Amino acid sequence: MTQRIPLQNLTTEAAVEHHSPSSNDSRHQPSNNNPSNNKPPKLGHIYVREIGGFFQRIRRCSNWLLMALYFVLPWINWGGRPLIWFDLSAQEFHIFAATFYTQDFILLTWILVLCAFGLFLITVAAGRVWCGYSCPQSVWTFLFIWFEHRLEGPRHRRIRRDNAPRTFDTFLRKTAKHTAWLLIALATGIAFVGYFTPIRALVVDFVSLNAHPWALFWIGFFTVFTYLNAGWLRHQVCLHMCPYSRFQSAMFDANTLIVSYDAARGEPRRDHHQKGVEAPSVGDCIDCELCVQVCPTGIDIRDGLQYECIGCAACIDACDSVMARINKPLGLVRYTTERALEGKETRFWRPQLIAYAVALLSMVVLLVGFLNTRVPIDVDVARDRQTLFENTVDGRIINYYNVTLRNQAGQSHRYALSAEGLPGLHLQGMDTIEVGANETRSLRLALTAEAGVLTQPSHPVELRFTSLEEPSITSVSETRFLGPSGE
Ligand code: SF4
Ligand code: SF4
Repeated sequence: MTQRIPLQNLTTEAAVEHHSPSSNDSRHQPSNNNPSNNKPPKLGHIYVREIGGFFQRIRRCSNWLLMALYFVLPWINWGGRPLIWFDLSAQEFHIFAATFYTQDFILLTWILVLCAFGLFLITVAAGRVWCGYSCPQSVWTFLFIWFEHRLEGPRHRRIRRDNAPRTFDTFLRKTAKHTAWLLIALATGIAFVGYFTPIRALVVDFVSLNAHPWALFWIGFFTVFTYLNAGWLRHQVCLHMCPYSRFQSAMFDANTLIVSYDAARGEPRRDHHQKGVEAPSVGDCIDCELCVQVCPTGIDIRDGLQYECIGCAACIDACDSVMARINKPLGLVRYTTERALEGKETRFWRPQLIAYAVALLSMVVLLVGFLNTRVPIDVDVARDRQTLFENTVDGRIINYYNVTLRNQAGQSHRYALSAEGLPGLHLQGMDTIEVGANETRSLRLALTAEAGVLTQPSHPVELRFTSLEEPSITSVSETRFLGPSGE
């Protein structure tokens, strides 16, 4: 009888001890009864068996959808520019109709923190559904395994080929697989860089060998990164590189939804070689190991919850297909909680979950409030450093200012310019300016005042910019007006 690893003991050591390839536990080796499995897999390599089923349909839909979004989004234009464009050279980030600037970094940071809290909340409630259904590492690994299956055949053939002397057919199949992987990796790299530079021009430049060296570097980097991570490292990334798999155990409790084997129902295991043998003391598990063969991280869910489990539910679908075939109720391996397995009631709302939910809700409210009150105009006023002030022929004092005006709205605006702070302060030459949607204009303004009103060398003044279309869009910038000592 296997022992479940208590949640609080969910450590690397515990898992490694149970699943080391060198373990003496013969259940981790492929069944000798299967002629295709007559040799154990190569050390460290996991031959994942493809499986259908309810959760895998959801997973495939989610994976294809996310990949489609990733590859298609950089090609969609909005108002004459890419829908999502992180324009580093202009320090502008276009996301749908909104444009964010470097001063909005705090906002982007806030959104990232919000996403992190969302992930914590989901983890407390439903375990590692993010890992299983939407993490890019899982999504791309799924795609690579999908190609592997199509080009090299199902699991038993792949094992047989890898343990047999190399043939021309094996060489062709492996070449086709690695070519497909590299092409996907290249497409991934181009799409990634396409979020930072318009992708149509990037593809033309790339094909005509005129791409910018930095673009080439990042495309190459992400091609290699994707090829290695999804093709070779796969679950090793989850086990050794992803910090989330390490600290998620701290967020789990006995009420968290996890993929679990119902040991009370499954044990003692039946020997599946003895077909038709039924005994009252025998459990529902026929020890077919299908749940192990479909596991992308190569673990045996019957050993209890392990940190390698990414919650993909492939073992649920695999076991359900077995249970259906032997006319047993489904759900020997299922989504459940530790409390439910112990026959206790699962409590959904608990302090940890409520705390995360309240924190997340508060952050969403603050974000919405900030976005609603965000005025889509940004003005930067700097005094002209060349000239402190000038005297005009009619006895007035003139000061110059360099102004950068960004219209952060999705449509163009005409702004009225005005100045306050001194009697008779006058804006010379320009009183309105038109700025296109998400456009930045630079201008040089001149303010004049009667020399007699200056009682000191420096006076605070305000420059006001107000949209004529929407007067609520107003920006007031404080600056100084300089003059003679005023004696
Ligand atoms: S144990 Fe099951 S849910 Fe966990 S990774 Fe393996 S197949 Fe997926
Ligand atoms: S798939 Fe189900 S029946 Fe087969 S070994 Fe796994 S738990 Fe047992």
